Amino acid sequence: MTTTASPATVRADTTCLDGVDLAALAQRAGTPLHAYSASAIRQRIGALKNALRGLDALVCYAVKANGNLAVLQLMADAGLGADIVSAGELRRSLRAGIPAQRIVFSGVGKTAGEIAAALAAGIARFNVESEDELHLLQRLAAERDVIARAAVRINPGVDAHTHAKISTGNADNKFGVGIDEARRWFAGSATLSHVHLDGLHVHIGSQMLSLEPLRQALHRTADLWCELAAAGHAITSIDVGGGLGVCYRAGHDHPVAIEDYTDVIRHALAGFDGRILLEPGRWLVAEAGVLLTRVIRIKRGRQRRFVVVDASMTELVRPSLYDAWHDIVPVARESRPLQTCDVVGPVCETSDTFAVGRALPECEAGDLLLIRTTGAYGASMASTFNSRPLAAEVLLDRGRYAVVRRRQTFEEMIAGEQPAQNWETA
Ligand SMILES: *Cc1c(COP(=O)(O)O)cnc(C)c1O
Repeated sequence: MTTTASPATVRADTTCLDGVDLAALAQRAGTPLHAYSASAIRQRIGALKNALRGLDALVCYAVKANGNLAVLQLMADAGLGADIVSAGELRRSLRAGIPAQRIVFSGVGKTAGEIAAALAAGIARFNVESEDELHLLQRLAAERDVIARAAVRINPGVDAHTHAKISTGNADNKFGVGIDEARRWFAGSATLSHVHLDGLHVHIGSQMLSLEPLRQALHRTADLWCELAAAGHAITSIDVGGGLGVCYRAGHDHPVAIEDYTDVIRHALAGFDGRILLEPGRWLVAEAGVLLTRVIRIKRGRQRRFVVVDASMTELVRPSLYDAWHDIVPVARESRPLQTCDVVGPVCETSDTFAVGRALPECEAGDLLLIRTTGAYGASMASTFNSRPLAAEVLLDRGRYAVVRRRQTFEEMIAGEQPAQNWETA
């Protein structure tokens, strides 16, 4: 597959995204509104596939980044698989048409019920994160008389140099097992009658803007693969995880070039003749998405000027959770003088803040703002805190848009709640 344009060409120019006029869109679909460019997502997929040419590689999109069915459908249409972390994500992926044979299951807390559902669906592989999980998988597979394919998620003990809350590969966090433990699993794997342990998996963190940690992690993984192979344990797949960073702050974040990323994989795994799995989430969808929000009012505090918008941490929690920066620009053609302000949401929580002391073009009530790079870990981390219904999501494609999640209604938001009346004893 070749790409005809660089991913940058579908970046919102502040008035338009993927050929759709954003002011008109906000008028039609309301705010706050998540909008995703299908063209931008396809370009990322194309660029990644192109960079992987010649390798036996399968890209398993990390569903947790953005699990909207229409987004998953774009992945399915492009032949991608899915990296799931729950039974819900399994069902979403299957519903969107991603075949079970292209689904891998990660996560430290897989329950018996979730493992059973994944076995019943016939997924490709379990990325196993603890000995207890390995034995549970063996028992559940034996009960069903199926063979589960499994990879050990190794924790290579490297620091991804990203935010502590999204770093997963250093020795003291909950993910994966140490290399010594992985060795022991393989040494004892002959006793596993219904688990075929023939893969290695590593995922060291998210939003990585440097390749050095990945290079280290993959070299450690490759050393283990060689050592295991020499000991007679055939390794048929190596999963390099996800974590590729994107640009949240123009001129400040410098994402690595995709070919440099795949070169690291090519070099570290040179000579490996099995299948290479990749689990990108953020990189495929983050920059394809924007969050449209309208200014409710300007509030002049004693020392600060607050731009109060109708989006909040319920649509985009990254700034509250990780102090994450997102570029914010007005959806406007004319230029205006800059003013320093805090951009805040309506939620009763001080951390409900999108930007502090940010120089923004002057704006007033009713203005439309664009919060950039919200295609990943935006809608997928949404909540209804403060009884705010979930925002709508639209997919844009070359001048057209489709609502791919309608705004939640009040009745939908409270569905399932009921007065305490049918009292029972447990
Ligand atoms: C979250 C996650 C990913 C995707 O991470 P991104 O930073 O979005 O690319 C991949 N693999 C695993 C195991 C994950 O937990």
